[in-house]
Amino acid sequence: MRTYDVVIIGGGAAGLTAAQYAARANMKTIVLERSAPGGQCNLINDLENYPGFPDPIGGDEFSERFETQARNFGAEVEVEEVESIEPRTDGTYRVMTDEGEIETPSVIIATGAAHRHLGVPGEEEFSGRGVSYCATCDGPMFEGQPMLVVGGGDAACDEATFLSNLTDRVIMVHRRDTLRAQGSLAQRVLNNPRIEVIFDTVLEEITGAPNDYGIEAVAAGRLKNVKTGATTEIAVGAVFIFIGSDPLTELTPFVEKDADGYIRTNELMESSAPGLYAIGDVRTTPFRQLVVAAADGAIAAHAASKRLEDLRDRALAHSLS
Ligand code: NAP
Repeated sequence: MRTYDVVIIGGGAAGLTAAQYAARANMKTIVLERSAPGGQCNLINDLENYPGFPDPIGGDEFSERFETQARNFGAEVEVEEVESIEPRTDGTYRVMTDEGEIETPSVIIATGAAHRHLGVPGEEEFSGRGVSYCATCDGPMFEGQPMLVVGGGDAACDEATFLSNLTDRVIMVHRRDTLRAQGSLAQRVLNNPRIEVIFDTVLEEITGAPNDYGIEAVAAGRLKNVKTGATTEIAVGAVFIFIGSDPLTELTPFVEKDADGYIRTNELMESSAPGLYAIGDVRTTPFRQLVVAAADGAIAAHAASKRLEDLRDRALAHSLS
């Protein structure tokens, strides 16, 4: 069985920062990531609000730098799927992965959140054929075509702005009469002549038609004004859905969560289970940003390292008594 001082689950900005700080504090550290390290960061086209980077940087390059830095301090970063976490009676944890078993006194959960689905007819059917949750990944396939964006938060505004570089017609529908996004992002969208924002409106159905390759793909969306009840059909080549995310917490049924399912922590990022920390988008936090996730990671690693020192001191005192 492998043993580590800390097992970090999730290799996004939060997890990789925790890894850097833990390894630098001489903890034997492993990051387990089920796909490519970088997390949601990899989906960002131009990252422009991380302090210290005045010129926009691509999300993939940015996350590579996080990983390199963590590895430089001695952290291991493995592509490995975690299947379960078992708290043991001696206060340690057994982490089961598709590669085997790991024993550790500290676990840091940095699994993030997954994008929410709208649940309207046509969404699942046309997923990957015009329905997308990542403009950076899929937008270029629909260059020059009208594109529909659903949502009114930071993600919707960021992604609509990105799409407006690919087409002169982005239609953004938002269910309320004001955008939720941060002021500067919202203003950029409202000032963009290529983006038409339709307020008080929801997408009710996505319909398809054969595309140039004869494949049934997104062709239109039916919109409904929530105040008047009026419906309109709008021809689009793609539908991008950004209506928030749900935390990925299925590995930790035993810790306390808030009403929305995010893991509650104290200021040290400790969850209700001793030795188990939660950082980044998976935890209750007022502001889900990369810089906040990274800071969470540093705090959790520091707290885990202090706890480990205390445990070792106590074990030493016990053995001497
Ligand atoms: P969000 O802030 O939760 O916004 C979700 C948006 O979708 C809201 O406008 C919401 O409407 C709408 N919505 C939710 N459910 C809906 C439904 N069933 N039908 C129609 N509309 C629905 O989520 P997000 O934009 O993904 O952002 C998540 C977090 O990441 C935020 O903390 C954000 O600050 C951060 N983020 C930051 C940046 C950046 O700084 N550049 C970029 C992306 C994300 P209501 O407004 O009516 O609730």
